[in-house]
Amino acid sequence: MKEFPGVSDQTALRAACGKVKVIEGCQSVKGVPIFHYDRDGKDKKKQKILVFSLIHGDEVPAGAVARIWMERLETIEPRNQWRVVPILNPDGYQLKTRTNADEVDINRNFPTKDWEAKAKEYWQKTTHSNHRRFPGDRANSEPETQCALKQIEDFKPDFVVSIHTPLKVLDFDGPKLAPPKFEYLPWKTLGHYPGSLGRYMWYERKVPVLTMELKEDLPKSEKPFVELQDIIGLLVGLEAGKPLQSAKSATQE
Ligand SMILES: [Zn+2]
Repeated sequence: MKEFPGVSDQTALRAACGKVKVIEGCQSVKGVPIFHYDRDGKDKKKQKILVFSLIHGDEVPAGAVARIWMERLETIEPRNQWRVVPILNPDGYQLKTRTNADEVDINRNFPTKDWEAKAKEYWQKTTHSNHRRFPGDRANSEPETQCALKQIEDFKPDFVVSIHTPLKVLDFDGPKLAPPKFEYLPWKTLGHYPGSLGRYMWYERKVPVLTMELKEDLPKSEKPFVELQDIIGLLVGLEAGKPLQSAKSATQE
C-alpha cells in the first residue's frame, strides 16, 4: 500500500499485522483471505466501530488510511472497540478494478429490501449500465458481500466507517448531527442506493454509516486521519441532535 511520506510506525504495523484474523468463509472470489484487525476499548460505555476499506479495489488511498488507523490503535488505549477490515475486495485491489473478480460492485450487492425491485433498474437507468457499478445478478451473490455481512453479524457494530475515494467529502447516513469541525473533508450528504452499505445499515437497521470519500492524493502527513479517528471516537457516543465538541480535547482515538 502507498505510504504516507515520512510517516510509518513499522513496529506498530508489524504488531497489528501479527494480530489479524480471518472469519470462516471470509474469502474473495479467487480464494484470497479477507482479514480483520480487532482492538478492544477501555471505556465502560464503549461503542463498537467497524471499518471497511477497499470495498472498491482501485481506491488505493483508502487502504493506506485503514493501515494508519491499525498502526495507531496499537499505540494508544482507545476508548471504543474497533474492528478494521483493511481490504474487503482483495481481488479488485490486485486487478486494480472497482469491482470484484466477478465484475460486481460490492457496494451495490448488499441485500437491501428494494434490491430485487430496484437495483438492476437503477443501474440501467441511472448509470446507463456502467460496468463499474454492476450490482450483480442477485443480492448478496458475492463472497466479499457475504464476508461483510458476516463481519456485521459477528462484531455487531454500533457505527460503521466505509473508506473510499475520490469525492472529497464525509457522507453521513445517520441521525441528524451538527457537522464536526474537520477542514480536510467537508461534511456532505451524497445519498444512498439500492444495494449500498449505507442503505442496508442505516436506513434498514439504524446503524449509522460514515462514508469517507478521500482525495486521490494523500496529504503529506497522516494528521487529518488521526484527527478524524478522534472525531469518530467522539461521534459514536453522541445521541441525535447533540452538537459535537471539538475533537482537540480528545487524543485517544
Ligand atoms: Zn468507492
